[in-house]
Amino acid sequence: MDIILLGPPGSGKGTQAKMIADKYKVKHISTGDILRENVRNGTPLGNEAKKFMDAGQLVPDALLVDIIKDRLAKPDVKGGWMLDGYPRTIPQAEALEKILPALGQKIDVVLNIDVPDAELVNRLSGRRMCKCGVSYHLQFNPPKVAGKCDACGGELYHRSDDQAEAIMKRLDAYHKQTQPLIDYYTKKGIIATINGAGDIKAIFGDITKVLDKI
Ligand code: ADP
Ligand code: AMP
Repeated sequence: MDIILLGPPGSGKGTQAKMIADKYKVKHISTGDILRENVRNGTPLGNEAKKFMDAGQLVPDALLVDIIKDRLAKPDVKGGWMLDGYPRTIPQAEALEKILPALGQKIDVVLNIDVPDAELVNRLSGRRMCKCGVSYHLQFNPPKVAGKCDACGGELYHRSDDQAEAIMKRLDAYHKQTQPLIDYYTKKGIIATINGAGDIKAIFGDITKVLDKI
């Protein structure tokens, strides 16, 4: 099964992705995680992407298309994948459509996670991340031991783009550049919208109702 997770920053894509990947055995591919790893390692891609990420802007399409093309050609995605954070623009979606046939892959469903902006601001400002990709929230989803990741024991950190000014810019970028994808995939008849406000496990229950039918 090949899945796209669509939704604004902070809508819970990463949180739900971990549970989806466990249950449905699909490979979780987060472009944000890939870019952050490149930033940490100081690669040329990371150095280029960092300027945009810190400013709350999207990284140029050409860089993301190359990342996805390479990632989807790796053998570990043959059993199915879930893209989290890609596509974020119409040109990225069009590029994906060109890449998939040659790989013998197709999008089965786009899960659109819907959360109002006011809640997104609260979620992003209280988010704490581990470099293994798991995210927590100081109030809504705290780790068992303060400051430590439940999954790997790593130190949690506050993302540099989870500060007030960058959050507002990211939400603006979402509305201008990413939200048009809802229409794009609605026209293709492959989108399912999930109410992403409420209890994390209840939202996962709604997602399983959609995925169990595929
Ligand atoms: P995204 O990957 O879409 O940017 P995350 O999964 O990292 O979003 O979630 C953003 C923040 O909101 C995190 O701090 C996470 O713990 C918290 N969160 C996720 N789902 C919920 C929810 N249903 N209710 C409250 N907080 C949530
Ligand atoms: P995320 O972890 O998904 O919130 O992504 C963090 C940041 O990485 C975003 O704010 C962008 O700067 C960048 N990014 C991640 N995915 C993409 C993408 N598909 N297109 C452009 N920029 C991206």
